[in-house]
Amino acid sequence: IVSERRLSDTRKRYVSERAEMIPPSGIRKFFDLLLTMNDVISLGVGEPDFNTPWNVSVAGIDSVERGATAYTSNKGLEELRDLISSYLISRYGTSYDPQNEIIITGGVSEGLDLAVRTVVDPGDEVLVADPCYVSYSPCVTLAGGIPITLPCPAEDEFRITPDTLMEKITRKTKLLMMNFPNNPTGGVMKQGDLEAIADILVDHDLLLLSDEIYSELTYEGRHVSPASIDSLWERTITLNGFSKAYSMTGWRVGYFCAPPEITAAALKIHQYVMLCAPTMSQYAAVEALKHAEEAKDRMVAEFRMRRNLFVAGLNRIGLPCHLPKGAFYAFPSIESTGLSDEDFAERLLVEHQVAVAPGSAFGPSGIGHIRCAYAVSREDLDEAVKRIGEFIDSL
Ligand code: PLP
Repeated sequence: IVSERRLSDTRKRYVSERAEMIPPSGIRKFFDLLLTMNDVISLGVGEPDFNTPWNVSVAGIDSVERGATAYTSNKGLEELRDLISSYLISRYGTSYDPQNEIIITGGVSEGLDLAVRTVVDPGDEVLVADPCYVSYSPCVTLAGGIPITLPCPAEDEFRITPDTLMEKITRKTKLLMMNFPNNPTGGVMKQGDLEAIADILVDHDLLLLSDEIYSELTYEGRHVSPASIDSLWERTITLNGFSKAYSMTGWRVGYFCAPPEITAAALKIHQYVMLCAPTMSQYAAVEALKHAEEAKDRMVAEFRMRRNLFVAGLNRIGLPCHLPKGAFYAFPSIESTGLSDEDFAERLLVEHQVAVAPGSAFGPSGIGHIRCAYAVSREDLDEAVKRIGEFIDSL
């Protein structure tokens, strides 16, 4: 045992300072606990509970059967880039040339890392709209940048306001990273909100990284893509993908869109680190864009119903919750219970078998909230509301 320990201490010294700086995930311990329990309703996982549309899966299987399993070009299948380009212009009014301005990535996850490493130098400050998806700050840290949280609290309906943005900009600021519709809050930025921050970004010559993975899951009005605003196009990297809209989380396919100079620089990194996105998944994604509109619409309609039902239930039992305008998360405040969000999540899981994620895991503005993914059946949502209500009554 002693020699084992000595060895592992030695090995630890090999770990880089940047890797050491990445904090442990704030939700990992809940998942570990969950695995040891029975009869749990899990509102903790951020993925659709629908199967990938079967015709999409068949397209992936078909590519294997006909031996289309080799690398594609680094940028990704031309047919897929063409389809993405047409989809983006017709759906969101964002114009990207499939030859020079689109790269198919290994999910938005790769896109985030790629985008940050393409534009951030060591010491650059990166504003991270907070709360946010758990990988944002680690991506910045790994690139040598300094993540700075930009609060998007419930009072602002979880949006970025011009005043908070102005407050956080310094001479070192290079990039603003944001995700709307948002994980974990379900908040969205409307046209007016984006126009209000566009001038600030232009005046301070800042870049924008816009993660739009939930763009199809928009329930009120339409999704506005920042790059559709003329003054923002040249300074925006748009990321999107297939995981959420087509229930394809395991296929690992997304896309990176940016002006040609930025895309060319990103391609240099992508070609060495990823080479190309999984080939079979790219064929499946082609089918998704061609023939999965109906399946997607059905899924979005179901999420809308669940959202209405679940949020009404939360408010009824005394957990104030904004109506999320997109994604599939509700982000109620639990402050009235007097518990911290961590304690609330842990006790709710242990005592009433409902798994949720503590809001603080998504950044300081998430403190005092819990994230509930309504990616389970309506029956389970009803039961979850009942159990959460019982838990609150027991306090
Ligand atoms: N960005 C956000 C905001 C997410 O919530 C997620 C997954 O939950 C991702 C990116 C990762 O997406 P992908 O599966 O395309 O890597």
